[in-house]
Amino acid sequence: MSRRVIAIDGPAASGKSTTARQVAGRLRFVHVNSGLFYRAITWAAQRHGWIGEASRLCKGVAALDIEPEVRDGILSVRVAGQTPGAVLQGREVSRDVSAVSAYGFVRDRVLSLLRATAEVADIVCDGRDIGSVVFPGATLKIFLVADVKERARRRLLDFGGALSDVAIREEAARLEARDRADSTRERAPLRRAADAIEIDTTEMAPGDVVQRIVDLAAERGIEARTG
Ligand code: C5P
Repeated sequence: MSRRVIAIDGPAASGKSTTARQVAGRLRFVHVNSGLFYRAITWAAQRHGWIGEASRLCKGVAALDIEPEVRDGILSVRVAGQTPGAVLQGREVSRDVSAVSAYGFVRDRVLSLLRATAEVADIVCDGRDIGSVVFPGATLKIFLVADVKERARRRLLDFGGALSDVAIREEAARLEARDRADSTRERAPLRRAADAIEIDTTEMAPGDVVQRIVDLAAERGIEARTG
């Protein structure tokens, strides 16, 4: 049986995952960060030397053991028997993830893993194509945006980096490059679904963004699960 889905899409570092995790916590849904799947595949591809080698990547991904695991309402991904952890969010994986996630065979694999999660749980799923392609029938679709400098600042803060003008400019350039690649690919590009509600978080406190989404969910009859 298909369960309830809240889709949260948006560009890199727009606060999707943090917001989605908190909304899921409030509603007692499972948080599914779809970027984690693409990052886990990219991490494995880097370790095996498949980057830039389309046919090896295709064969490798087909044979790769990818296992979603839910713990305390949050989904993590085991890949080849390992849970890579924080390294998935690092600069090295971020550098190659857009190129890897542009391949149709990679997207097909992730799409079926994501849809399987919604068969067994109510989810808040964040990504780039969740409302447009993965769950076009989602009960609520949100598209988060924020000024790129603010996104760069938040990302540096998350990683404990220096907040100099130069560091912010460099991080903003990396985010823009990833957004460009994600928006211009042929398959399932980053875009706002026609029926998604856009929220600009540049000047909003994180808690207010979460509250707004919980309110929108309530308007659609989604209340916190009990038990
Ligand atoms: O959300 P996050 O920044 O972790 O996503 C990492 C990358 O994974 C994105 O830049 C994009 O290339 C890819 N991705 C995607 N579709 C999604 C989620 C992530 O292509 N639904």
